[in-house]
Amino acid sequence: MKRKILSTLMMLAAAHVGAQVTDAMIANDADTPEDVLSWGMGTQGQRHSSLTDVNAKTVGRLVPVWSMSFGGEKQRGQESQPLVHKGKMFVTASYSRIFALDAKTGQKLWKYEHRLPEGIMPCCDVINRGAALYDNLVIFGTLDAQLVALNQDTGKIVWREKIDDYSAGYSYSAAPLIAEGLLITGLSGGEFGVVGRVEARDPKTGKLVWSRPTVEGHMGYLNGKENGISGTTNATWPGETWKTGGATPWLGGTYDAKTGLAYFGTGNPGPWNSHVRKGDNLYSASTIAIDVKTGKIVWHYQSTPNDGWDYDGVNEFITFDMDGKRMGAKADRNGFFYVNDAATGKLVNAFPFVKKTTWASSIDLKTGRPVYIDENRPGDPTAAGGDGKKGTTAFAAPGFLGGKNQMPMAYSPKTGLFYVPTNEWGMDIWNEPIAYKKGAAYLGAGFTIKPLFEDHIGSLRAIDPKTGKVAWEVKNNAPLWGGVMTSGDLVFWGTPEGFLKAADAKTGKVVWQFQTGSGIVAPPITWKQDGEQYVSVVSGWGGAVPLWGGEVAKKVNLLEQGGSVWTFKLMK
Ligand code: CA
Ligand code: CA
Repeated sequence: MKRKILSTLMMLAAAHVGAQVTDAMIANDADTPEDVLSWGMGTQGQRHSSLTDVNAKTVGRLVPVWSMSFGGEKQRGQESQPLVHKGKMFVTASYSRIFALDAKTGQKLWKYEHRLPEGIMPCCDVINRGAALYDNLVIFGTLDAQLVALNQDTGKIVWREKIDDYSAGYSYSAAPLIAEGLLITGLSGGEFGVVGRVEARDPKTGKLVWSRPTVEGHMGYLNGKENGISGTTNATWPGETWKTGGATPWLGGTYDAKTGLAYFGTGNPGPWNSHVRKGDNLYSASTIAIDVKTGKIVWHYQSTPNDGWDYDGVNEFITFDMDGKRMGAKADRNGFFYVNDAATGKLVNAFPFVKKTTWASSIDLKTGRPVYIDENRPGDPTAAGGDGKKGTTAFAAPGFLGGKNQMPMAYSPKTGLFYVPTNEWGMDIWNEPIAYKKGAAYLGAGFTIKPLFEDHIGSLRAIDPKTGKVAWEVKNNAPLWGGVMTSGDLVFWGTPEGFLKAADAKTGKVVWQFQTGSGIVAPPITWKQDGEQYVSVVSGWGGAVPLWGGEVAKKVNLLEQGGSVWTFKLMK
């Protein structure tokens, strides 16, 4: 009898543990199509599902099963990737909101609306890109630079931690990364002269484990003790400039269990005017690989040394196998596509993925550095012969919104191709004198962004990482701002015009589309539940383009705001 009770108790305990999200489940996320536990559909960020129920032959029967509105008057940009676990969907929304829904029916289970103070300073709309799951918690970050962990079942707050001071310009919008039992986050605020860093916490309590500054000269910490300065003070930053150096890892990171490294991209150095901080300005506009156990930078690769165009190098670093070696690929905002050895950072390949790059002619594979076209750097406002108020204007392509921006690309191990949401645009840019003031924009530059072509800005491109060849492309009138996913032999992506589209991953032939009622600026997901494949995407136009778009605004001023989740499955 005693034994029976004990075994029943153990079974109950096992069932309870089974409902919780474990490290092993997160590590296997890419290979378990019945759930989506991480941003990137797996910590490597490949955004590939092995599911093939929805394919070129069946996709004509893909129809909406439910749509759920985020409601309220807060219909701004929706850049969130939903998560799905045990039949529940967790999705974040504009103004630091999060919803739990029944994944099959869309029925709302609970919502949490973070109380935001006056005076938050998001640079690029009041967006959020998603949550993380761990144990029985769902964890997300807020525009006032806090992390909030909620009980998955009740939506009640379990812990809350402040990342930094929102009144200095810090904010948070990325989906947190979970790796090796740690909650790993970056932060936002690079337009305000803040100092970027990556932090790891205990996901169950929020307690800080390590922090690693992404600006050279600042001290890192591990378990409350000093853990070495990042780089060497003043090696790549003159004078006091490193104290307001930006380099925020605002998009969040990826993790590869094979290398034990977390990969974070970093944003622009502060201010935009590059003449006041002569030097490479490490670790801005870079990929940095951090040992998650020690919180130390193992390698870095800087795509835009001494950036003068706001070419944030935050873009996702997706690890994959090429020629039997573990590599990582990144389509950088500066218009070049990079392939680095994932363990050492050594540059293996680099090529432009947009038609025009004015700031550099190529990337030297030997040195790993860009071959600059010096005359295309915007001028120094204090140069001799000038008025001291404005430097010479330069035309730059890509414009500062980038050859690619926050919208994550996808990799298909079936085709060996990356599916990259690209944009073709340029800008006039000039520098102005600037002094740092806490909580004020720290740019020292002015700009007007403009399209390069009449018929399109956006283009979804299938790119071979070995050759740099574009296998196919699907052009889009408005700039693409949503992410990509592959499922079986199909590629899914959304457009600002409101369509969720599917194309054949090999040929690019568009085989399906559906109008979601507002612009899509978020990445789709897919999963299988009770024997049926589901596809979901968040719809809601916004983000940086309508706020900063200059002449591009003409292409997008007809688009309507929204805020909803759409879910599809095959009609029987
Ligand atoms: Ca999974
Ligand atoms: Ca920036």
